Amino acid sequence: MVKSKKSIPYGRQSISQADVDAVIAVLNSDYLTQGPTVAAFERAVADRVGAAHAIASNSATSSLHLACLALGVGPGDVVWTTPITFVASANCARYCGASVDFVDIDPLSYNLSVDRLREKLEQAEKHGQLPKAVVVVHLAGHPADMSAIRSLSRQYGFYVIEDASHAIGGSYRSTKIGSCAYSDITIFSFHPVKVITSGEGGMALTNDERLARKIARLNSHGITRQADEMQHSSHGPWYYEQLELGYNYRMTDIHAALGLSQLSRLEEFVSRRHLLARRYDEALKDLPLVLPWRHEQDYSGFHLYVVRLRDDLKKNHRAIFEALRERGVLVNLHYIPVYRQPDYEPLEFNAANFPQAETYYASAMSIPLYPDLSEDEQNEVVLALREVLG
Ligand SMILES: *Cc1c(COP(=O)(O)O)cnc(C)c1O
Repeated sequence: MVKSKKSIPYGRQSISQADVDAVIAVLNSDYLTQGPTVAAFERAVADRVGAAHAIASNSATSSLHLACLALGVGPGDVVWTTPITFVASANCARYCGASVDFVDIDPLSYNLSVDRLREKLEQAEKHGQLPKAVVVVHLAGHPADMSAIRSLSRQYGFYVIEDASHAIGGSYRSTKIGSCAYSDITIFSFHPVKVITSGEGGMALTNDERLARKIARLNSHGITRQADEMQHSSHGPWYYEQLELGYNYRMTDIHAALGLSQLSRLEEFVSRRHLLARRYDEALKDLPLVLPWRHEQDYSGFHLYVVRLRDDLKKNHRAIFEALRERGVLVNLHYIPVYRQPDYEPLEFNAANFPQAETYYASAMSIPLYPDLSEDEQNEVVLALREVLG
């Protein structure tokens, strides 16, 4: 297909000369990995969001795996999450030999529904199958109702992992996303389409020192060099101990340098996303679309601008997608309900149990939103939507 105009992706990174310089500085330094930059990035993110501890990994997928392991998720356990998420939010439990179940979404926020969660917990308690942990995703950056979820977690005794891959820079009520004020562990992703990037990368945040140590160890082969964690007395200055079977999920200093440099633009990025979102709200309000909801007391990371087609247009969902892509507007769909993935079919989920997720999947569309999207480009997106929906 030949296109005259450059196509507009749904999301992309914004790289400055300072980012490039920061990476080059590490390349010219003594350490490409296991140097000071990873620790500096961890400290900077932890301080920024108000968490006590942060452990950087090579992806959020790795961080989610480590979070589950650190919380003791294993065979015989069940972990619940939302079906409208990237597969990694659910896969993390399966890596640990646990099984996964889903809670239907809220029709307004598209996050895991607290009402459905409460009902499902009541049922699960009767059958003695309460979840070990619930992975809560702040879809598109809009914070889930953490206070209600935390109360349920205290009542029923499950852990809460926030998959905040979309939500760095946001806040829930008076707390920053990542502060773990309502969760045991929060995870960020630094993939290039996310709010800030390190190329590939993820981070686990927690206020629990024991969890932090466990995650840090599992992140690097299960090895410790800290005397107070060792089981035997040291043999000498070379000595370390492998205490458990861990992984090499470490972030490199090259990636951390990019992440750290990007972090200094976090506020600028998120406020630009909000500005563009408000422009969309205004420009699209007369179209047959459901525009994104946000809670007036919260601040979204605004990773995605998700619109939904009104009911009468749902039958044209695919055609509308194709027509927009044809015009160079590279809309995307976040996400296919996870239980629909072929790898999940043997687990025999019934789509009828997730009516809101199905409705969402039949009508949702992420339209371009990223800091470097110009107002002219945004106007092109609006025009394409008008033509296609008009
Ligand atoms: C991107 C994403 C992940 C995985 O992040 P990676 O850093 O690419 O491993 C997990 N969960 C959600 C909700 C995501 O959007």
